[in-house]
Parts: sequence; C-alpha cells; structure tokens
Amino acid sequence: MEPIQSSLKKYMEDAGWEGRLQQLQDSVLSEKRVHDWLHRHQEELVDGAVQQGMAALYEYKNSWKNCDQCPGLEKCPNPMPGYQPELYPEHGQIQMRYHPCSLKIAADRQKKQEALVKSMYVSAEFKKASFENVETDETDGRAIAAHQAFEFAREANPGEDGQGLYLHGMFGVGKTYMMAAIANKLADRHIQSLLVYAPEFFREMRQAIGEGTVNEKIDAVKTAPILMLDDLGAETMSNWIRDDVLGAILQYRMTEKLPTVYTSNWDYEELEEHLAYSNKGGEERMKAKRIMERIRPFTSELYLAGRNRRET
Ligand code: ADP
Ligand code: MG
Repeated sequence: MEPIQSSLKKYMEDAGWEGRLQQLQDSVLSEKRVHDWLHRHQEELVDGAVQQGMAALYEYKNSWKNCDQCPGLEKCPNPMPGYQPELYPEHGQIQMRYHPCSLKIAADRQKKQEALVKSMYVSAEFKKASFENVETDETDGRAIAAHQAFEFAREANPGEDGQGLYLHGMFGVGKTYMMAAIANKLADRHIQSLLVYAPEFFREMRQAIGEGTVNEKIDAVKTAPILMLDDLGAETMSNWIRDDVLGAILQYRMTEKLPTVYTSNWDYEELEEHLAYSNKGGEERMKAKRIMERIRPFTSELYLAGRNRRET
C-alpha cells in the first residue's frame, strides 16, 4: 500500500493545491506587517519556525486587514470581536495573542462609567446636537463662541494639552446643547468625553458616602479623557464637595493634562463668589480661589449670548 504521505502529496498536486498553498504562504510572508515582524525577530526564531507559525501569521495578517478597514466595534469581523492580534517569539517559535483594540477599551470604559456614574448624560439624549444646528446669526458673540468651541472639538488632545473651555451665559441660550455638539464632534475623532450634570453628580456623591463608593466615582470622573461639567454653580456646594470632590478631580486633571469643559450661568468672578459661600454660611475666599486656580488658567472663557430657547 502507498504510504499516506505520498498519496496525499499526489492528491494535492493533482488538485493544484500545492501551488495554491504556496501562493497563499507567499502572500502572507510578503504582507508588510508580517514581513516587518519577521525581519525584527529573525534572530529569535529557530529553523522551521516560520513554516510552523504559518497559521498564526495567516490569522494575524487577516485580522489586521480587518482593523485597517475597521467597520466599527459592533461589526468587528475579527475572530474575537474587539480584539487585535499581536505576535511574539517564544522558545524560538512564533506565538500569537489577542489584546483589546482602542475602540473596545473605550467601550468597556464607557460601560463601567455608565454603571458607576448615574448623573452622566446618556449620549442618546444629545446624539443629534451638532455644530451645523448651532444658530449663529443673532449676535456676533454667538458666532465667535461657536467657532471657538468647534476649534476645541477639532483640536483637543487629552494627555498632551489640558486646555478646556468655560462656556457661560444665561439660562436657555444653548450651553448644554453646544457642549453636546462638542462631545459628538470629539466622538468623530474617537475621543471620549464624559458629560455630567454637576448638581446631580454632587447629590450622587453625597449619597455615595453611605454606599462606600466615593473613591470609585471620583476615579471614573477624574480620569475621563474629556470631562464636561454641566451647570457648575447651579447649587450650593458643601465644603466637602467643593474641596474634596471637585478640588480632587480638578487637581488630577490639571496634572494629567486632561481638558475639562464647563458650562455655567456665572462668569469666572461670579463663580468664585459662589464658591466662597458654603452651605454652612461661612466665607472661604482662599478655598474658592484655589478651585478657580484649577479652572481659570485651564480654560478659554466663552460667552454665549442669545435668546432663551426654552421659551419658544
Ligand atoms: P442652557 O444649557 O444654556 O440652559 P440648553 O442647551 O438646554 O440651554 O438649550 C435650551 C433649549 O434649546 C433645549 O431644549 C435645547 O435642546 C434647545 N436648543 C439649544 N440650542 C439649540 C440648537 N442649536 N438647535 C436646536 N435646539 C437647541
Ligand atoms: Mg444647560
């Protein structure tokens, strides 16, 4: 009887498989990422490692091809959706493992935050907010504010540049709407922002004391690539909220160069005044100044003028 090896070989030759296999291998080995990796690691591989690792190299090449044409996390065609392969040498052989991609990391983070911080806006509420709909014809100031907000959304660079925005103006002029438009524009650039309604967040923090979740909640908020604090100063803050919650968050963001966007009915001076009066009635100018030192130098002040859009 013919040995199985040679009959298989003959069968493959007949079917033209050997040629096709060779073609496939060539296409794997000539792919740029594979080629570069093999070049970098050739010293670490034993003879025959490339042949043995061919299946891994093939999967590596195909998964990265998917990533290069990423259709979004929901439609990820990789064997493990949201994961990207990396190659590494081990005992002279080619090995492969998967790590989560940046979209997957951001999505997991978002889920964790949603579970943790109840006072954050769910993005769906503001999905439609966009700069195209921000009306700028009423006053020149509005156009300038919208333009600067747009520039921020286009250029913000968390971790490298901690400059944010301080958007103030009367009730109903569209501050929250503009903030959401910034968040949506940032999302187009795959930069994640966390939008929290400040008065609700501070209430939530007071409750968190009893639940023992203060630190986790502070951590989730302070580490957001872009933090948006909506309606700061709309409530009377306790000393604890001002110094140990807001102060701690802003201190961290300042040192890590993470931009913060604020909206408020107050301008800087009025906010400082507001922060100086705690709910216990005492006056604490130095503490208020300290908070303002974390806000004022790290934001551009934008005044949003216009009519109250809630009244039409
Ligand atoms: P503020 O935060 O300044 O009090 P909002 O952003 O909440 O004001 O805006 C007030 C109302 O006007 C909201 O209902 C908001 O959806 C709507 N609004 C604001 N700006 C726009 C806009 N450019 N296009 C459509 N609706 C807007
Ligand atoms: Mg608002």
